[in-house]
Amino acid sequence: MHAPLTVDTIRDAPKVLLHDHLDGGLRPATVIELADAAGYRGLPSTDAAELGGWFLAAAHSGSLVRYLETFGHTVGVMQTADALVRVAAECAEDLAADGVVYAEVRFAPELHVEAGLELPAVVEAVLEGFKVGTARAAERGRHIRVGCLLTAMRHAARSREIAELAVRYRDLGVVGFDIAGAEAGFPPTRHLDAFEYMRQQNAHFTIHAGEAFGLPSIWEALQWCGADRLGHGVRIVDDITLGADGTPRLGLLAAYVRDKRIPLEMCPTSNVHTGAAKSLADHPIGLLTQLRFRVTVNTDNRLMSDVSMTSEMTALADTFGYSWADLQWFTVNAMKSAFIGFDERLALINDVIKPGYAALMA
Ligand SMILES: [Zn+2]
Repeated sequence: MHAPLTVDTIRDAPKVLLHDHLDGGLRPATVIELADAAGYRGLPSTDAAELGGWFLAAAHSGSLVRYLETFGHTVGVMQTADALVRVAAECAEDLAADGVVYAEVRFAPELHVEAGLELPAVVEAVLEGFKVGTARAAERGRHIRVGCLLTAMRHAARSREIAELAVRYRDLGVVGFDIAGAEAGFPPTRHLDAFEYMRQQNAHFTIHAGEAFGLPSIWEALQWCGADRLGHGVRIVDDITLGADGTPRLGLLAAYVRDKRIPLEMCPTSNVHTGAAKSLADHPIGLLTQLRFRVTVNTDNRLMSDVSMTSEMTALADTFGYSWADLQWFTVNAMKSAFIGFDERLALINDVIKPGYAALMA
């Protein structure tokens, strides 16, 4: 007898999250308190429920540009070491309470220096926060490991510096590097020296590619930059055609992505909100899962999209009829694709993930 798939049982299932933005996951009440403490005046509301609704409405506007504007407020209140420690600690606690056992949370250090913090101090505050939050969660019996990805902004020119920072803190909790921001007009090849540096250091990186922009962006991320994973990668479906009898045919790039088991960090609800997919039912995750690409399920921005790993998994199970076996498959896919060492990934799969799902499927 399998346990029924409900919000509560899915929350208890071990989950792995590879694509989550620190500045996209604050609690609304924390945004308000930090704004008050810092004298930040720009918030659209000082009521937590109303502010949460405002973020969701802006995220749901269908425009990636408007969506990115919401980050002005979260980043605006994350400019001191204390604020960064608090936000990172609450992030680890919230993910652990949601049943996430391993997470890679990303943020862009260069966005948190407006009040005079140096880049290393920004990274150290966030790492300290994850440590604090992980310990608090453990006291409540929720065990989570949080790795950190440092993001460079596509439109800026600090990617090499951020890559060096990622390598400098690699043994202290930073597990990789990423670039993010508007894709159109800012190809990843602008940051080739950062990616070359990461490869020379035997370090890992993912690239936001194929979210709002098409196949060339994915092709550049993989074949010019050498990305280990694709942030979103949704538009890879543009390289899959359906024959007259409905049989899918993969183009060369889609076949490469599937053959090489390139992980796709898919964020279905976020994509619906930014207009990259019409609805969850229309989201390419259905076809890509059916074709056994290395699909992983992620939140992207928990505040802006009002999602959690539990709500995302529940919505997918409702929409596509996924079973516990499918949810375990997404989770193992993500764990296999994490940027921590092979032994640690294997231990989490064998000691935590598989026993967790076996209990639900017993
Ligand atoms: Zn993202």
